[in-house]
Amino acid sequence: MGKAKILIVEDNADNLALVRLLLERAGYDVVIALDGLEALRQAHDQLPDLILMDLAIPEIDGWDVTKSLKADPQTKDIPIMALTARTLPGDRKHAMEVGCDAFMAKPITIAAFRQEVENLLKKRETKS
Ligand code: MN
Repeated sequence: MGKAKILIVEDNADNLALVRLLLERAGYDVVIALDGLEALRQAHDQLPDLILMDLAIPEIDGWDVTKSLKADPQTKDIPIMALTARTLPGDRKHAMEVGCDAFMAKPITIAAFRQEVENLLKKRETKS
């Protein structure tokens, strides 16, 4: 597998800058979306290997974007990791119910974040 392409969906500039830096340093190709509509468009246009999904985003929230991507044959196999500052009880469960493959609370722990990204990409690799 060549350079993996990762779509970051994030409306917060600081979070976006951090995650983007970590991924680019690790050698991944990065594409970004700042809201739910852009996320849907980028997912279809770019067909990334992994999507990092902020759940609280403008236009269409991350739960609905995930539901819609997981219902679409073209995008349903792309792993999605929810990345969210919302850590109310039930949030993880709700994220998994709409189809997220992993869930990580913000602020992220860098080592755990890297590991989870690698795990999800590996799963993707063995599937395809
Ligand atoms: Mn947000």
